[in-house]
This record gives sequence, structure tokens and C-alpha cells, in this order.
Amino acid sequence: MSVMSQGIIDQTQEYGAKNYHPLPIVIAKGEGVWVEDPEGNRYMDMLSAYSAVNQGHRHPKIIQALQDQASRVTLTSRAFHNDQLGPWYEKICKITNKEMALPMNTGAEAVETAIKAARRWAYDVKKVKEDQAEIIACTGNFHGRTMSAVSLSSEEEYKRGFGPMLPGIKLVPYGDVEALKEAITENTAAFLLEPIQGEAGIVMPPEGFLKEAYEVCQKENVLFVADEIQAGLGRSGKMFACDWEDVSPDMLILGKALGGGVFPISCVVANKEVLGVFNPGSHGSTFGGNPLACAVSVASLEVIEEEKLAERSLELGTYMMEELRSIDNPKIKEVRGKGLFIGVEMTEPARKYCEQLKDKGLLCKETHENVIRFAPPLVISKEDLDWAIQQIKEVLS
Ligand code: PLP
Repeated sequence: MSVMSQGIIDQTQEYGAKNYHPLPIVIAKGEGVWVEDPEGNRYMDMLSAYSAVNQGHRHPKIIQALQDQASRVTLTSRAFHNDQLGPWYEKICKITNKEMALPMNTGAEAVETAIKAARRWAYDVKKVKEDQAEIIACTGNFHGRTMSAVSLSSEEEYKRGFGPMLPGIKLVPYGDVEALKEAITENTAAFLLEPIQGEAGIVMPPEGFLKEAYEVCQKENVLFVADEIQAGLGRSGKMFACDWEDVSPDMLILGKALGGGVFPISCVVANKEVLGVFNPGSHGSTFGGNPLACAVSVASLEVIEEEKLAERSLELGTYMMEELRSIDNPKIKEVRGKGLFIGVEMTEPARKYCEQLKDKGLLCKETHENVIRFAPPLVISKEDLDWAIQQIKEVLS
């Protein structure tokens, strides 16, 4: 480790709250799938900031949109209209085939928004008795770090010392339709799930689960709410991971790549019957829907469409998974995923493999102890991917 990087790491350690445990590498520059440390060493980014950089680092079209908008106006608050919000609303509604959207900034905030919408829908539309609304979520979920999101979690460490938790939450095992049916009561507002559980270690639901769960929700008058913050926007090889089973959720939660890794923006989209429950004064955010985020987001969505990133993800991801499955090593328990959203589960902690991969110029992060996650920017070329696969084979063989 050179003096410059070490100095920055020491400074971070000295002054920063210890809520992360990063690999010892400092990123000072990024372009496409490549990042560079202050000493000029190049690494391939195989994490994409947890799928926020699907379009690649500093995509020229997105940076252009940022610069153009930054030279006009950046923040108006919602006390006034701004000229970028309308076009963004129309774009996101057309892409998701929904009638209404509500912009926020981070993923967790969008999850909060979805919970508020579902609860209010339960009282105003479904006529659940006051303060009785319930949300059903799945074990192993990850919906963020705010109080509502950690209240949903089944991870003790995410909750320890933060109580009391939000009431009105039930958990069912991920992928278990029978458990979902049993958990639903007349007070159930929504079933909230990730169509692929990212942070849990790229956990896939059993085939048919999304569709069956959606049908159960429809029959029982329960909102089916998909958190596509990580799995959506091309990552899984379809525009949305729910598309794999032709499910159009009642509410979709988006974030991360919605801002192209350039500017934070998240949102909830749904039809008017659901998002129509908000009235002035019931919800908001100073930065939510700001013109800079909206301009960046429209460009980010256009890049996903124009460069066919979902199709790319499917083609290259299928290829990569085949290559990884060909590695003969009894310590590899499973290779799973969809598109370029791939988890390699080891029979032992994955951190040491991530450190070895880093030494070979590949930045990966373990998730849930034993899983190495491979999620490169979706703009990755076949050549670069082949280089990555070669490095992975050398470390894992
Ligand atoms: N939901 C899912 C599925 C996520 O993967 C994440 C982040 O990893 C979040 C919500 C939280 O998003 P944010 O970190 O932007 O609050």
C-alpha cells in the first residue's frame, strides 16, 4: 500500500464512524468498468456500487446531462414546479407502465414511501381499521437502513440497539407461497419483497413464486410491492426482475441505477388507486424530484434503453455463469443468478477470495459471509469480461 492511499485510509479510520468494513483500496477515478487508485493502479469494478453503476462510471451521456442541468438550475424544492420533473414523471411511468410516480433520493427513503402508501391505501381504500395495517415481508430481506427498513429485517445485527421497532410487520420465508397465504389477514396492506434477494447473497426465488405470490395478493386484495432497487433496471437480464414471470407489481420501488451512479434518485411507481392516496402535506422531501436528479435520471434511463443493457446483461451473464460453473473446485457450493447479477457461494468465508481478486485487479465484495457477488457495470465488453473470468478462474481453481 502506497503512502497516499494509506494516508487516506488512516484519515477515514480516524474520523469516520465505523459502519462499513471496506477492502483496503482507495478509488480516485472511474471510467466505464474501470477504476483507478491515487497511485494510478487500475482495477475492474465488479460491484458497480451495489448495482447503482449499471451504466458504467461517468457515462458520457449522463455526465453531459448533469453538466447541462448544473449550468441551469439544480434545486427548486417542491414549493415550485421545475421544468425537469414533468418529463421525468412521464419517462418513468412509460418505462414501468404505471400511472404515477413519486421521487425521493435514496433507496431506503423510497421503501419508506412505499410503506406509507401501502398503509394509507389500506385505510383509505381497503378500509382496514385505524392503526391495524400490516405489511408482510420476507426473511433474508434487505430494504435499507432506516428504522422502517431495519424493522422489516430478519438480521439481528441490523436491529441490535435500535429498538423499539416499527409494529405491524410479519415475516414469511422467502419463496414460500403457503406461508404467505397463512400470514395474510383482513388487515394486510402489502406483501413487500425483492424479486431477487441481493444482499442476502443473490438468492433466487423458486421458479413460479413471483407469479403465484402476485396471484395470491390479487385474490386477497393485498398490494404486491416489489423492491427492484438492486435487481431492477437491467441488472437481472430484464428491465425489471419481475418481468421474468410477467408480473407487473402494484407498486415498484426503484433507486440506485435510476441515477446512473451519478446522482441519487429513487422512486415509487404505481397506479392512481395506490399513489393517489397522497395529498399535499402527507409526504415529501426537500431534494426529491430536484431538476438535477431528474435530468440525470432521464439520461440514465435512456442509456439503459438505447444500449440495450438488459439484453446485454442477459447474454453476458448467461455466458459468465456457464464459465464459472465450469470451475472444478469442491469449495464452490453454488453459482447462481440471472444476467450479470451472479453469486458464487463458497463453503467458507468469501473475504479472502475478494482480497485475492483485488490483488489481480478485480474489485468484488463478499455478501453474507460466504458469497462472492459478481455484478459488473452492464456496459462491460466481452473482452473485458473474458479478462475478468480468467482472473476469477485463477483465484477459484
Ligand atoms: N432495497 C434494496 C433491495 C437494496 O439492495 C438496497 C441497497 O442495497 C436498498 C433497498 C437501500 O438503498 P439505499 O442504500 O439507497 O438506501
